[in-house]
Amino acid sequence: MFKKVLIANRGEIALRIHRACKEMGIATVAVHSTADAGAMHVRLADESVCIGPAAARDSYLNIAAIIAAAEITDADAIHPGYGFLSENARFAEIVEAHDITFIGPKAEHIRTMGDKIAAKEAAGNAGIPLVPGSDGGINTIEEARKVAKKTGFPVLIKAAAGGGGKGMKLARDESELEMAMSTAKQEAKAAFGDDAIYIEKYLTLPRHIEIQIAADSFGNVIHLGERDCSLQRRHQKVLEEALSPALTQKERERIGETTRKAIEKLGFLGVGTVEYLYENGEFYFIEMNTRLQVEHPITEQVTNVDLVREQINIAAGKKLSIQQKDITFRGHSIECRINAEDPVHFQPSPGKVVEFHAPGGPGVRFDSAVYAGYTIPPHYDSMIGKLIVFGDDRALCLERLRRALSETVITGISTTVPLFERLLDEPDFQTGDYNIHWLEKWLEKQK
Ligand code: ADP
Repeated sequence: MFKKVLIANRGEIALRIHRACKEMGIATVAVHSTADAGAMHVRLADESVCIGPAAARDSYLNIAAIIAAAEITDADAIHPGYGFLSENARFAEIVEAHDITFIGPKAEHIRTMGDKIAAKEAAGNAGIPLVPGSDGGINTIEEARKVAKKTGFPVLIKAAAGGGGKGMKLARDESELEMAMSTAKQEAKAAFGDDAIYIEKYLTLPRHIEIQIAADSFGNVIHLGERDCSLQRRHQKVLEEALSPALTQKERERIGETTRKAIEKLGFLGVGTVEYLYENGEFYFIEMNTRLQVEHPITEQVTNVDLVREQINIAAGKKLSIQQKDITFRGHSIECRINAEDPVHFQPSPGKVVEFHAPGGPGVRFDSAVYAGYTIPPHYDSMIGKLIVFGDDRALCLERLRRALSETVITGISTTVPLFERLLDEPDFQTGDYNIHWLEKWLEKQK
């Protein structure tokens, strides 16, 4: 097992990884920007190294500085968390070239899945059902017209290098196609330095359902059920549930097993998530994330599996501690992403947290790096905490969520806590009757 792990991240996920390491008897190294000198991940880690100024490209994305920090502190592994360098195949290769273990998949899998065109091809070949659309990339308007004719409108133009909901453009009919293509290309070039695009049929009422998987180096592959991440704003997840209120046990087993087999075929190593859109009883692959996800705790709640511990064990060459037959689902879990943002207009609200009290009690977990007196820097993601609740069934989970939200005290800044309180009053949310467009429509009505 590793003696010392460097955590190449910040915020709640750095803490989550630190906690797993401590429980496993592993020492931790925090890295931080100058803006994060007083951050909780730095305060809790056994050692810390400043790797650069506030801007992420100069610190949390600074590969040379991170490798140097690992070498100075003699860390034998690096955990990238999510975001930042977690899906950078080159980083994984450089880490390994320095005889340090990258806690994540093989670089080749990160690379394939990071290019959505290549990812779709690989997934399709492994037996995963795809969203109808172009066979690979699209270069000309004639090609685009041909594909759209086959799939029917509306279609979505997507960036091969896309992520975080960026670089997606909708074309409702043929007259919008050319414009959508050129804006998608421009946006993709500006955001990712790569203007490769492809086309998918735009599904009008789907849910976002994703399957958590884990695979060790002995060929054992398991799936840990699904998460329903349909409540989204600007294609970004806001609240997630496990299991999905929309799937039957039979559908769950079917998509879980299809995904598990495909992952086995791909020879994937580590933890990952295969994302699908689900409409009219059918699943359609959209992408695979080759890392730990923000919403992983709800899967931990309903399966009782510590995903970060499994991930570290896999990277250290150990076997998964559970087999597929050991995985049973119990109860229901919901995660709310609490952002430092205005809860109506979503402007970022960085600044000093005056009072802070995390909710607790039965079935409540609060993953956050915030403390009273902490100043949230303006340079990074606005997510400052995750409220994760668990109940024996969905009804109890919702009751607990309401209770936990009412206990949460964060003053000095605005947060999205009131948004979730309002959401709980909505009959559609109470019954679980929503799709990926529901939240945006509801937010429009709230204004
Ligand atoms: P990103 O990597 O930018 O997050 P994804 O491909 O994972 O992009 O898609 C993010 C979200 O965008 C999905 O959860 C869904 O809400 C929406 N989306 C993506 N593809 C489609 C599609 N073909 N039809 C309708 N909505 C889509």
